[in-house]
Amino acid sequence: MQVIPYGGVNEIGGNTILVETNSTKILLDFGKSFKQEGTYFEGFLLPRTFQGLKDFLEFDILPRIKGLYAQEYALDNEFSEHTVDACLLSHAHLDHFGNLNLIDKSIPIFMGETTATIIQSIQDTTRTRFGRPYIWQATAENPSNFRTFRTGDVIQLKDFEITPIHVDHSLPGSYSFIVEGQQKKLGYTGDLRLHGWREDLTKDFIEVAKQKNLDVLLIEGTNINEDFDMNERKVQEELSQAITRTDGLAIANYSLRDIDRFRSFYLAAKENGRKLLINVKQAYLLRLLQDDPHLEIPTLDDPLIEIYKRPKRKYYKWENFLFKNHSMVESSDFDQTEYIFHCEFWNLTDLIDIQPHPKKSTYFYSHGEPFDEEGAIDFRRLQEWVNHFQLDFKQYHASGHAPRSDLKRIVEEIQPQLVIPIHTEHPEMYQEILDIPILLATRGRTISI
Ligand SMILES: [Zn+2]
Ligand SMILES: [Zn+2]
Repeated sequence: MQVIPYGGVNEIGGNTILVETNSTKILLDFGKSFKQEGTYFEGFLLPRTFQGLKDFLEFDILPRIKGLYAQEYALDNEFSEHTVDACLLSHAHLDHFGNLNLIDKSIPIFMGETTATIIQSIQDTTRTRFGRPYIWQATAENPSNFRTFRTGDVIQLKDFEITPIHVDHSLPGSYSFIVEGQQKKLGYTGDLRLHGWREDLTKDFIEVAKQKNLDVLLIEGTNINEDFDMNERKVQEELSQAITRTDGLAIANYSLRDIDRFRSFYLAAKENGRKLLINVKQAYLLRLLQDDPHLEIPTLDDPLIEIYKRPKRKYYKWENFLFKNHSMVESSDFDQTEYIFHCEFWNLTDLIDIQPHPKKSTYFYSHGEPFDEEGAIDFRRLQEWVNHFQLDFKQYHASGHAPRSDLKRIVEEIQPQLVIPIHTEHPEMYQEILDIPILLATRGRTISI
């Protein structure tokens, strides 16, 4: 068995890992590398798309994997021969699936059912690169390659038997994989943690991985340099108490697809006799997810959830559909003491229309610290908005990724023969906490197991 990590090496995200034998090739995740792209491009300096993949390949923003890309983007014969047997996605974060729309349509793509729903909602509400969809409608001559799985399924792909197992992460429907070849067994964690609402899911993965006696474990290490004891339950409790002390509007900045955090704000609203006023994108996602019996998330029919209709010149069809069918609120018609208002950075202008009661309202920032220069600049801008509207500022957050001590625990329980850290800027730090051999990968270099 050979492993070639094309992305996720010395960076958080961009995971693209080829696992192959002489006759079978599978790709684990096909994520966008924000770091690699951000090194060369930003703002108005963007890679051109009319010349296919040219600008991307110049700087290795996209991996040079033969037979992976759609014909129309292949520059020359180097990319035209289709040899990849399947692509498997761990979850619906862009750093794990963001290049999916460039893939050749003949390659089968496997993902969890919830991942398919989330990708569909992203596709319906945002613009994709090259204007090409991630998930396309099947036609007679072009049958869809999407296959979905659930925990308990086993996928047979020529030399490989692949077992997907759910894990806890800041996005529902996240999976890890166990890939069994004829001689060797490999585990791939995707992104995971043990401190969300569903730590039991990650424990299921640890249990199965342990029984399999893995030869190699590819494990994420986002927080390998950090220990903390914040968990989602504490976030919810602290939020709820702080909202009790808020006399005016409670404003919530959290990632719209982090359904765990949404649940924490929902529970905080419930405990405080408030309603949660969400934005249309989150409403659209909830509508698609509400048919999923495994998630048990509050639906749009819940009396504690309303949709905020921000003023716009023109609304999209999907927005109008939501406004027609669900309870919605406009800026002029609500009592601020009755709501928690979901307001991400991009929607800060909503505050101009709402005019939160000064000195009484609180801005709840529910993210981690900014991790790059641009993030730091945006954070300073955010502070200016908070000062301008005389808001109290509070931060409550628990990471989507396991801290150092939990990563150590996970590896020690699974006891693989070899550990390959991925999705981290500090892979070498695994050496400080483990007695198991660690292999530090090089981007694009083959590892033989
Ligand atoms: Zn990730
Ligand atoms: Zn993730």
